[in-house]
Amino acid sequence: MNKTITVIRGDGIGPEIVAEALKVLDKIAGKYGHSFTYQEILAGGCAIDAFGKSLPEESLQKCLDCDSVLLGAVGGPKWDGVAKEIRPEAALLGIRSAMGLYANLRPARLFPQLAEASPLKPEIVSKGIDLMMVRELIGGAYFGEHKTAEENGELRAHDDMTYGEHEIRRIAHTAFQTARKRGSRVVSVDKANVLDSSRLWRKVVHQVAEEYPDVACSDMLVDNTAMQLVKNPAQFDVIVTENLFGDILSDEASMVTGSIGMMASASLGEGSRGMYEPIHGSAPDIAGQNLANPIGTILSAAMMLRYSFDMAAEADDIEQAVNAVLDEGYRTGDIFSEGTKKVGCSEMGDLVAAHI
Ligand code: NAD
Repeated sequence: MNKTITVIRGDGIGPEIVAEALKVLDKIAGKYGHSFTYQEILAGGCAIDAFGKSLPEESLQKCLDCDSVLLGAVGGPKWDGVAKEIRPEAALLGIRSAMGLYANLRPARLFPQLAEASPLKPEIVSKGIDLMMVRELIGGAYFGEHKTAEENGELRAHDDMTYGEHEIRRIAHTAFQTARKRGSRVVSVDKANVLDSSRLWRKVVHQVAEEYPDVACSDMLVDNTAMQLVKNPAQFDVIVTENLFGDILSDEASMVTGSIGMMASASLGEGSRGMYEPIHGSAPDIAGQNLANPIGTILSAAMMLRYSFDMAAEADDIEQAVNAVLDEGYRTGDIFSEGTKKVGCSEMGDLVAAHI
């Protein structure tokens, strides 16, 4: 199969981790007879430096004109002072919005080899953690009207949290379809005791649930969910929630599994094309030192093969390779513990590729 992948290396550790994911993809291409063409674009801080904006039109066009996008990470302290419209993160919002990527899938799975890296007690971790967070990505407070204006002699800031039925319906379908391929249980998270947008969310999710009688559906308030994720994460299969709640809960869910450097994500829309990226940022504190963990990016590439290219065997191959490398005791600094073997970012990529 021939696939064109738009590659955004980005800032900080972005170039280092993406290089390792491409190494693994090249190995897959060779083994299975595929051809992956990489079209590189600048987005984020490096694009601000080169073009004065974080998402040049040409870069965006290449995201629209490909089979999927692979992203490292963008941003860093160097660009903290720039105007908010051109901030590095604005590039991501722009790409998600233009590509219509309304569903963000973040698996949070505890690798048994890394149980010690979880901040939770062993008796909680031993029950296992394997959940999928399905977050609405282009609605809610992040995309509502933002304004700050003077009112009664002081500044007042507004961030409009709004959802239409169609936006809730389509993400609910994504969640139920995802659950069908896993444990057939969906927990829909909202704040329906306070927010109108949540009451509509709950109503529409219940309507969609009727189309999936084989999937169990229940509701949970967001504050309780934050608590349950640390108290008993094993209870969850698929969690579906709106943009802001999902942003916070998905970081919590991934942290209980150990290192943020292990976690992958997929952002999907109506068609098969998606954007794939690790959930962490550009980690400026360790950039350029060959210290980053590339596994989150490598597993994001595996998700691209599975969800966008329908290459399940190839995705399994990558996931098994990661497992094998962890079994052999190799660790980057973020997941290192006594008795394991510390390696750098590029060595970790070599090891995973060698197992393909
Ligand atoms: P971060 O995720 O970059 O880093 C948090 C901590 O985790 C740091 O100590 C870092 O060293 C560590 N870490 C992250 N990824 C790692 C990896 N692969 N291997 C080993 N350790 C890793 O979060 P931050 O420091 O809050 O943000 C840094 C920059 O990244 C900011 O400019 C932020 O806006 C940006 N950011 C970008 C994205 C994205 O591109 N999708 C997401 C989040 C943050």
